[in-house]
Amino acid sequence: MKTISLLGATGSIGVQTIDIIREHPEEFQLAAFSVGKNIDLARKFISEFKPLLVSVQDSSDCSTLKAEFPKTKFTFGSEGLIEVAVFEKSDILVNAVLGSVGLHPTLQAIECGKIIAIANKETLVTAGHLVLEAAKRNNVPLLPVDSEHSAIFQALQGEMDKNIERLILTASGGSFRDQTRAELVDVTIEQALNHPNWSMGAKITIDSATMMNKGLEVIEAYWLFGVPFEKIDVLLHKESIIHSMVEFHDSSIIAQLGTPDMRVPIQYALTYPDRLPLISANRLNLAQIGKLHFQEMDFKRFRCLDFAYIAGKAGGTMPTVLNAANEAAVAEFLKGNIRFLQIEDLIEQALSTHQVIANPSLATIEEVDKETRQFVHSLL
Ligand code: NDP
Ligand code: MG
Repeated sequence: MKTISLLGATGSIGVQTIDIIREHPEEFQLAAFSVGKNIDLARKFISEFKPLLVSVQDSSDCSTLKAEFPKTKFTFGSEGLIEVAVFEKSDILVNAVLGSVGLHPTLQAIECGKIIAIANKETLVTAGHLVLEAAKRNNVPLLPVDSEHSAIFQALQGEMDKNIERLILTASGGSFRDQTRAELVDVTIEQALNHPNWSMGAKITIDSATMMNKGLEVIEAYWLFGVPFEKIDVLLHKESIIHSMVEFHDSSIIAQLGTPDMRVPIQYALTYPDRLPLISANRLNLAQIGKLHFQEMDFKRFRCLDFAYIAGKAGGTMPTVLNAANEAAVAEFLKGNIRFLQIEDLIEQALSTHQVIANPSLATIEEVDKETRQFVHSLL
């Protein structure tokens, strides 16, 4: 039996993680979880799983739930996320919270020796060097949940790092795959949220439409697999059947395939190095699919992907700026305050005005993250 702390239980990844726990009650126990503001769903999960510890975003929700569930311990805010992450009875932290708020809890959980299953890519983008250093020092495994990284991780089982020629991340193209840049000027929030293949949270769906999601994933891959940016490629693959690939020195390419279903990589992170059946999974029928398509990425069409390579190669605080500017800009787009193409304009301005600081400390990263968000708001 593995015991789990889950950050972001009410989100898209969180709910699917709970599906996996529910499907395998003899294997997994949900010991602690955090939610943001979705208290109704939190109530359902508390009644069903009887966790020992739950964290919510606001203190008022914390008081309400305390009165309703006297047997569960409740906590709140950013300290609450850390308490859940380091909860003593948990073996694994599944980090499925949204944004760089996941950084502190991840670092603290690593210091406590927890196995980390990481969906929260913003944490790796904003401070990958700190996360990797802490994981190495504490001998803690970092298991990818993101489907592309899980695919690469699966393709690398039993392989030597030195044999890698390149990583090939596949990209669906997002909601506006078939539109030209000119056609993007007037797109609406609803159109941007309409992803052709995956059902995900709002922020990552917008990131997929701008292609920033793939940019963040390139940086995530750089940290998780220690492969230089020159050896990380992105390939447009509209069916989202091949989740990513590794090319080796001898020219062999190993790919991982499946229907677009995040429960598969979530479950693999929870069962690694083993596998469990996933009875409710949709199995892939390649004969029915018939054809798969691939296309080179257009960096002029998807400027955010270009920004991510530039920020990743610049290193230091540049990826922190990329991530913070993107989080701030996407939040403004989702509130209806800016147009779709302004997201990339704001990120570009934030990157071009930033003086990179090499090898930043946690305090520097937090400062740069805050300043970048303020800078983006000052441009509105
Ligand atoms: P969602 O927006 O669906 O869920 C986010 C979760 O985080 C919710 O539980 C939300 O709580 C909680 N949350 C948000 N902000 C805060 C905060 N400030 N403090 C505490 N809790 C907070 O996101 P996704 O599940 O789509 O994505 C989560 C992470 O996983 C992201 O980093 C994303 O990039 C990554 N990921 C997602 C994939 C997907 O398929 N969705 C695929 C690969 C990676 P509440 O709703 O209760 O307010
Ligand atoms: Mg992904």
